[in-house]
Amino acid sequence: MFDWLIVGAGFAGSVLAERIASQRGESVLIIDRRNHIGGNAYDCFDDAGILIHKYGPHIFHTNGQQIVDYLSRFTAWRPYEHRVLAKVDGQLLPIPINLDTINRLYGLNLSSGELEAFFAERREPVDEIRTSEDVVVSTVGRELYEKFFRGYTRKQWGVDPSQLNKSVTSRIPTRTNRDDRYFTDSFQAMPRHGYTRMFERMLQHPKIKIMLQTDFREIRDQLRYNRLIFTGPVDEFFDWQYGKLPYRSLRFEHRTVEQESFQPVAVVNYPQTEEFTRITEYKHLTGQTAPKTSLTYEYPSDVGDPYYPVPRAENEALYKRYEALAAARSDVWFVGRLATYRYYNMDQVVGQALATFRRIQDALPVPGAR
Ligand code: FAD
Ligand code: UDP
Repeated sequence: MFDWLIVGAGFAGSVLAERIASQRGESVLIIDRRNHIGGNAYDCFDDAGILIHKYGPHIFHTNGQQIVDYLSRFTAWRPYEHRVLAKVDGQLLPIPINLDTINRLYGLNLSSGELEAFFAERREPVDEIRTSEDVVVSTVGRELYEKFFRGYTRKQWGVDPSQLNKSVTSRIPTRTNRDDRYFTDSFQAMPRHGYTRMFERMLQHPKIKIMLQTDFREIRDQLRYNRLIFTGPVDEFFDWQYGKLPYRSLRFEHRTVEQESFQPVAVVNYPQTEEFTRITEYKHLTGQTAPKTSLTYEYPSDVGDPYYPVPRAENEALYKRYEALAAARSDVWFVGRLATYRYYNMDQVVGQALATFRRIQDALPVPGAR
């Protein structure tokens, strides 16, 4: 008999397991249907001895000091600022689009002020910015949209950017300066010894038991527990009773090549050519040195594990129906990217889990605690 059952050992489940065990002194059983903890942030050493991310590149960045302070209890950090290049018209150019991107693409020598004017001439006025196409064409114009965004987005999501909520391409800014960092958050770093090591330390508590390769659907009637936290897909929890919520999946092709380095930065995007969206070379993220190097190619797909909620109005409406079912279950807490159908980054999931813990504390005061 456990006080709590937590389904899913990713960020959402692991943060809550740690908080409940250490702050409430209650027993927790955390299960995952995969054979490892860490959820999509899981990393491991491959056959060549290189630390890779099994589910594609995970770069930690946040403006939340509280989130950094919390995770720093379980890991030291390696400073790392992410830079990405996009292969466009045969060149490797900085993305987000910045001053150097435009000067190199068109063989120009514009200043920042001149680039403002360049964009102003090209941008298309849009009355109300609703879609992912609107975001980009109203900022940099149609030609750059087609070179950098249209093809990548169609591959990644399987639909045209005009069919996706503005939130998707709004993740990528446009700059008129030379800042070529992918993120501008105040804290950007990688867990010094990897994500999995950090998760191991979070879950290392006598009140926490871990069961892997255990699917909630198969054992839900056999386990005895008082309360439940669910971090898997919310539509699955409710037996898809309103139909399937769309999630986009990826096929990851991991390769090791017999050369010390492969590409100039950790991630190169392919918006115009190839079936994959991007190639990641992990040594840039981890600082590891080795005579070989390991890469991941990402091929988007409709089938496979659910990775990305698809931000579209009709999906949001369907999610709202599941959210209403979830809200009616006062014995279950739904947390994380899949259970709340949100395109959240890791730090946002940690923030959501810490906020959920505060709600649990308010709803269920621990007897005897001050
Ligand atoms: P998950 O990590 O998905 O964990 C949920 C767990 O629940 C899974 O392990 C699953 O196996 C388990 N589960 C589900 N259903 C069941 C069930 N029925 N029974 C048992 N177990 C179940 N974020 C960033 O901040 N920076 C990045 O660079 C970044 N890159 C990303 C790249 C890719 C390719 C992807 C897919 C995501 C990326 N993210 C990134 C987002 C990040 O992965 C998520 O924000 C975070 O991992 C979500 O944590 P979670 O606990 O909500 O979900
Ligand atoms: N995007 C694009 N071209 C790029 C980079 C991003 O079209 O070179 C679009 C694409 O729709 C992508 C979205 O911007 O899904 C968000 O990009 P991000 O790098 O944040 O995606 P993630 O790392 O979450 O997969």
